[in-house]
Amino acid sequence: MSAEMTGLWSVDSGTARLNGIRCSSCGLVLFPPQLYGCPACGAGPGELIPAALPAAGRLHSFAVVNLHPSHPTPYTILEVELDSGPLVRALAASNFDPRINDRVEGHEAQVDGTPQLVFERARVPLA
Ligand SMILES: [Zn+2]
Repeated sequence: MSAEMTGLWSVDSGTARLNGIRCSSCGLVLFPPQLYGCPACGAGPGELIPAALPAAGRLHSFAVVNLHPSHPTPYTILEVELDSGPLVRALAASNFDPRINDRVEGHEAQVDGTPQLVFERARVPLA
C-alpha cells in the first residue's frame, strides 16, 4: 500500500485503484468522491459509501498539451471511461502512444519526482 491511500488513488499489491464512492441506494459509482448526495436518485450523503475502483477502462479521448505555464511539455491527458462507470481525466504514461478505444490501466510512476497515477495500454488485454 502506498502513502497515497488517503488521496484520490492507492496501490495495493501492485494494483492501482481510484478511491471513489458508490450509492448504496441505486448503485451509481462516482469519482471523485463528493459529499452532496447521489445525483441520480437523490439519496443523502450518508448513502454514499467508499468504493475502491480498479484503475482500468477504455480510452475515450486524449489531448497532447504542448504549452503550459508551469509544467514541462509535452504531456498527454487522457479521458478514461472506467469499467466501473465514471469518466475520469488522467495523465498518460510518457511512452504511451494513445489510440481511441485502447484498453488502458493505471499504475504508479514517478513524474517530476512525485508519485503519480499514470495510464497506458493494458498489458494483458481484457474483454
Ligand atoms: Zn443513488
